[in-house]
Amino acid sequence: MRVFSIPMRTRFRGVTRREGVLLRGPAGWGEFSPFAEYGPQESARWLAAAREAAFAGWPAPVRDRVPVNVTVPAVGPERAFELVRASGCRTAKVKVAERGQDDGDDLARVEAVRDALGPDGRLRVDVNGGWDVAHAVRMVRALDRFDLEYVEQPCGSLEELAAVRSRVDVPVAADESIRRAEDPLRVRAAGAADVAVLKVQPLGGVRAALRVAEAAGLPVVVSSAVETSVGLAAGVALAAALPELPFACGLGTLSLLSGDVTGDPLAPVDGEIVVRRPVVDEAALAALEAGPEVAAGWRERLGDAAKVLDAASGDGSAGYLGSLGAAAGPSGAAGPVGPVGAAGGFGASGAAGEGDVR
Ligand SMILES: [Mg+2]
Repeated sequence: MRVFSIPMRTRFRGVTRREGVLLRGPAGWGEFSPFAEYGPQESARWLAAAREAAFAGWPAPVRDRVPVNVTVPAVGPERAFELVRASGCRTAKVKVAERGQDDGDDLARVEAVRDALGPDGRLRVDVNGGWDVAHAVRMVRALDRFDLEYVEQPCGSLEELAAVRSRVDVPVAADESIRRAEDPLRVRAAGAADVAVLKVQPLGGVRAALRVAEAAGLPVVVSSAVETSVGLAAGVALAAALPELPFACGLGTLSLLSGDVTGDPLAPVDGEIVVRRPVVDEAALAALEAGPEVAAGWRERLGDAAKVLDAASGDGSAGYLGSLGAAAGPSGAAGPVGPVGAAGGFGASGAAGEGDVR
């Protein structure tokens, strides 16, 4: 295992460095990078995702490219316009409800993004739970004059999301409301969203996320947890394996990091990421390797998460973690591997099945 520590270009979730562990197995490299506030129980799912990548590989892709959105932070309208124009993306996600700004700032930013995209581009806003119901209803209606694809997490709770959804015509997406496998079912049961934003690591791997997507019965937008190309490759694998992919994904996040562990980063070109699995470059990884103190902390976090995951799979637990442990154990007891299989199949060629490219 190798521990990386990469400075962020922009502060994100209050962190200025992205850290984590890369594990190597017969199927390739996997990333374990739970955020600092997650304890062993939660981190066990992130470890299951890393083990799946390293020991089992991923199911076969049904498409060879994944469209991604450009993310526009809470910047002024001129900068927002430039970011969208420079991105080459046909879909933009605009952050709104930033603390210290007002509704006028959001309206100006979204208008500038619509100008940059033209009438055919798709435009979504991400509120990160920042509005109450009345504010959300008022702003979604006001912003919809720029033609919104959907509004992401307008409020914090499922009840509030459901209330907003019943009062506006714009579809509602749930992001923060979905952090574990049972959440999408709760979202659907509450009538809280039309779209589910899914991330591979918190859900415990590509196969687990595919099961969650199927059970939820909602269209899915795959998003990253701001990972290196190793972690992003799992998100791309999920997006590539979903039977339907009606929306651009939030996987174009590599530019948030100041470096990467491969010489051939999984970055979008003309708004799309080619489905492939980048090779870790030893020199690149060595340059981003964490110091001994940080590395020791991560070894401990990984060990604690492994205890939780192995206990859940070892005792034959029928629970969610138990099923994850059984699906991709560290010993390579990998369970059913998709038709493409382990190491090579989902490889550099990125070959996809025929006939299902959007
Ligand atoms: Mg979001």
